[in-house]
Amino acid sequence: MKSALDKLGITGEIGGAAIGGVWRKTEGKSLTVTSPIDRRSLGVVRECAPADVNAVVDAASEAFLKWRIVPAPRRGEFVRRVGEKLRQHKTDLGEIVSLEAGKITAEAQGEVQEMIDICDFAVGLSRQLYGLTIASERSGHRMMEQWHPLGPVGVITAFNFPVAVWAWNAALAWVCGDPVIWKPSEKTPLCAVAVQRIVSEVMNEMPDVPPGIACLAIGDRHSVGEPLTASEKVPLISATGSVRMGREIAQVVAKRLGRSLLELGGNNGLILTPTADLDLATRAIVFAAVGTCGQRCTSLRRLIVHESRKDEIMRRLTTIYGRLKIGDPMQEGVLVGPLIDEGAFTAMEHALGSATRAGGRVFGGERVTQNVPKGGAYVHPAIVEITPDAAIVKEETFAPILYVMTYKDFQDAIDIHNSVPQGLSSAVFTGDLREAELFLSPAGSDCGIANVNIGTSGAEIGGAFGGEKQTGGGRESGSDAWKTYMRRATNTINYSRELPLAQGISFDVGP
Ligand code: NAD
Repeated sequence: MKSALDKLGITGEIGGAAIGGVWRKTEGKSLTVTSPIDRRSLGVVRECAPADVNAVVDAASEAFLKWRIVPAPRRGEFVRRVGEKLRQHKTDLGEIVSLEAGKITAEAQGEVQEMIDICDFAVGLSRQLYGLTIASERSGHRMMEQWHPLGPVGVITAFNFPVAVWAWNAALAWVCGDPVIWKPSEKTPLCAVAVQRIVSEVMNEMPDVPPGIACLAIGDRHSVGEPLTASEKVPLISATGSVRMGREIAQVVAKRLGRSLLELGGNNGLILTPTADLDLATRAIVFAAVGTCGQRCTSLRRLIVHESRKDEIMRRLTTIYGRLKIGDPMQEGVLVGPLIDEGAFTAMEHALGSATRAGGRVFGGERVTQNVPKGGAYVHPAIVEITPDAAIVKEETFAPILYVMTYKDFQDAIDIHNSVPQGLSSAVFTGDLREAELFLSPAGSDCGIANVNIGTSGAEIGGAFGGEKQTGGGRESGSDAWKTYMRRATNTINYSRELPLAQGISFDVGP
């Protein structure tokens, strides 16, 4: 039987750049991709050199001239067909996500479903993209705004959502009339190759679509990331990854006065109040803290619990943590797969060491070596009782560590919650309307996502996704996030025979 990799054309040495369905023989170094499950080799990619990136950017720029004048609903038809192909390939693509990113099957399939959902959303959007009409102060005048395509969008993605984040960007960018140049994480390039193959199937069916609207450039931050972000021909860089990466990219893009959309690290908190439904809360906490082995930007990292409920929630969490099935993410029943690599394990060890030195009490966190595939970095998710002022609590460690701290008064809980530099996702579990509304109010959570009686992870695509402070301020996906992918033109039309000036200015130049 053919494997998912074979079915999606991942065989032999793959060129690191593609313009639609045309693969380019690239000049960069050879990259052997291994699985975090057991470090077996999955494929070989020849990375891009900077010259390859320039060729891809030129192809996207050329495609833009055609794509921007294609009616938006026709662009939507392309996205509709991409969504259909994703439905057909869902199982295989999900399998590649599991193999390359180490996600359990349910979460990998869910990630592909998210791609399908955003395609559906974008198809509807392709018949909207509306501007306003605005009352003019001058008689015989009309004012309006239009949204026009922006140009090629560079999409830089992280390893932990190796396909969905691209789809959030690409589906919107395409209906907005923009080509997409994708720089996937060097840890998960094969997912990108598989998606590119799927998109090129649609291109075969729609020969009028310029191939340069879907470009791929595989390589690391130096060979691809830096030339892409520095390119004047790419008006928008949408980058998902660490705060360090966002800081570097923001400066490069700002220097050329380009636009950046940043989706960076989170350090997400959940407040557990005296009136919380503990059954709901326990399930939400465990999913958010250990799902994707703690490697989601929205993973729950801080539990801020009322002192009256700490013992009960600790008892429940330690019981569930003790029976979590850890191992091969593609095996049924497993809930916690591997960390992405040894570097992630070392970062987790360091964080737990710092927490202990700061007086934290650590449960779990050990390496798992029994009944797991050899070669992968498997860990027991950790729970750490600690005080909120410990320095390590302010950092995002991309691993399953849940810091638990207590509060007495709800206002203190909000203060603790907001005392970290990141601002992505947040939640409160409460039955008290006043607490819920305060948490959602301007004096409550300072995050881009604030939930009541729902955990911090697992957002739907219909809302705008992103966060504040060091999370970068970008918004992707639903609501009006599409506006970042377009340029706004304000138009004033004079249908009178006079030329009145705004603000009543008189400027008499004679007859
Ligand atoms: P990372 O920052 O190491 O890399 C992300 C991507 O940026 C990769 O493709 C990498 O090659 C590229 N990159 C890094 N430095 C660059 C530079 N100077 N110029 C251009 N490109 C550069 O992140 P990671 O380890 O792959 O992912 C984990 C991080 O991503 C976590 O911090 C997580 O919170 C964050 N993340 C955020 C969101 C969000 O929506 N806010 C979603 C997923 C992941």
